[in-house]
Amino acid sequence: MEIAIISGKGGTGKSSISAAFATLSEKVVLADCDVDATNLYILFNPDVEGEEIYIGSQKAVIDYSKCINCGLCIEYCKFDAIYYSDQKINISSIHCDGCKLCSRICPNKAITMIDNDKSRMYYGSFRNGKMVYGKLAPGEENSGKLVNIVRDKAKKLAKENNINTIIIDGPPGIGCPVISTITGVDYVIIVTEPTLSGLKDLQRTLELTTKFNLNTVVIINKFDLNIKITEKIENFCEKLDIKIIGKLAFDPQVVAAMINCKSIIEWQPASDLSSQIKHIYNNLIYGQ
Ligand code: SF4
Ligand code: SF4
Repeated sequence: MEIAIISGKGGTGKSSISAAFATLSEKVVLADCDVDATNLYILFNPDVEGEEIYIGSQKAVIDYSKCINCGLCIEYCKFDAIYYSDQKINISSIHCDGCKLCSRICPNKAITMIDNDKSRMYYGSFRNGKMVYGKLAPGEENSGKLVNIVRDKAKKLAKENNINTIIIDGPPGIGCPVISTITGVDYVIIVTEPTLSGLKDLQRTLELTTKFNLNTVVIINKFDLNIKITEKIENFCEKLDIKIIGKLAFDPQVVAAMINCKSIIEWQPASDLSSQIKHIYNNLIYGQ
């Protein structure tokens, strides 16, 4: 079973809940698909058993021995990645989109395209099974493609190690990497919080999961911080026939657990919050 945990925006507690789920079962495969801001490896410190270079895009580089400073490439670059500095042409690797246009129009063939090769996919073992995560280097592109690679590896590891459950910590938002994260999973859990922007993000995220016809459920995290908006979220979900599988109260121990590189389940296994998360998880996985 593949369970993707996503949220309309960052900071809702999505990763804390993913970490809690990952430490409830004897063995899981944990896939951190938040490749732009991967963080679960810091918490679980996995033994890395392998890594793969991910090439999602290319960038333009100049051969100054050929450049005649004509400036044509500056005119053509739609991404404003090419500029003059110290009377020399420069290309910003952060802004370069890899469209190749400059390399085609340069009259002296002074621009070539090279692979962006700083992004990685890592895999290995952690205390509750196997873990896979992607790290997209700053300025590198195609996070959705890297998410697909992470998910494929997670499935392979699950098969090789006889593990039935894959927990996916997804990226925030509703963009391409989120679509790659949720496509074909058994359950999508949307973690939301009781703020007006949280409700708006939930609406947008539900539109997406409905479009893809996915089994979607909701957790309201820190529900007690604004009961009125929590009620609005409940009413909204009821109208759409979306099940709220849990309402978790704000608990500062979640942050304390993270600081100590533990999930809340490991940090305070007997707390109300841990019992509640356990209950949610068992309901979802075993229908208990
Ligand atoms: S188009 Fe080519 S030759 Fe002209 S400035 Fe750009 S890199 Fe140099
Ligand atoms: S490859 Fe495209 S985006 Fe990059 S510098 Fe050249 S024209 Fe600009």
